[in-house]
Amino acid sequence: MLRTQFHRCGNRLLRHYIGGIKMSNNKNETTSPNVLPSLPYADNALAPVISANTVAFHYGKHHTGYVDNLNKLIAGTELAYLPLEKIITETAGKVNMIAIFNNAAQAWNHTFYWRSLRPKSGGEPPAVLKQKIEASFSTLDACKKELATAATTQFGSGWTWLVLDGNKIKVVKTSNADVPITTGMKPLLTIDVWEHAYYLDYQNRRADYVNAVLDNLINWDFAAENLA
Ligand code: MN
Repeated sequence: MLRTQFHRCGNRLLRHYIGGIKMSNNKNETTSPNVLPSLPYADNALAPVISANTVAFHYGKHHTGYVDNLNKLIAGTELAYLPLEKIITETAGKVNMIAIFNNAAQAWNHTFYWRSLRPKSGGEPPAVLKQKIEASFSTLDACKKELATAATTQFGSGWTWLVLDGNKIKVVKTSNADVPITTGMKPLLTIDVWEHAYYLDYQNRRADYVNAVLDNLINWDFAAENLA
């Protein structure tokens, strides 16, 4: 899997880095089952909204780093044998498990983020999702505005989410690594608002990044699949 990525990415930095990660995964594979999923598209597929350079750093350095750190932290413990979501719910809120929680949640959040985006997307959600959005927000535009407001008002690092809470669709924001699955909500899609997600392309203009993502990359089909 990583070899495929190795050949597909035209970026020297990412090629070099993924080579290192592959060795690390091999070293840990008997005790650490968490592997870095492949990107669901090429690293330049989100351009010009999100550049290949941003994706190369974000996936190749940040996302990869969370998976690698998690595997180091849980190696040799019983957590090494749990699915990633279970590691997150088992460690959430425990003061002696903060580093494990942070890296596990960030590993999960980033995989969910890459799948929340898709080249040449945005547009209209599938009918079932659109009806549920209109029931909660009255219009799709109002829903997008609430997502953008949550994303731009999150102070510091964090995430903006469209979630299913009971039978109602809501917008929530979380700080740092926090993820709505720990409070019983079902994530439908997410937007990463850590500076590393946009700073190379947009510098301090977080709102421009968020609105461009909502208009051009957001994957409503993925959100609709998560309704089920
Ligand atoms: Mn990130």
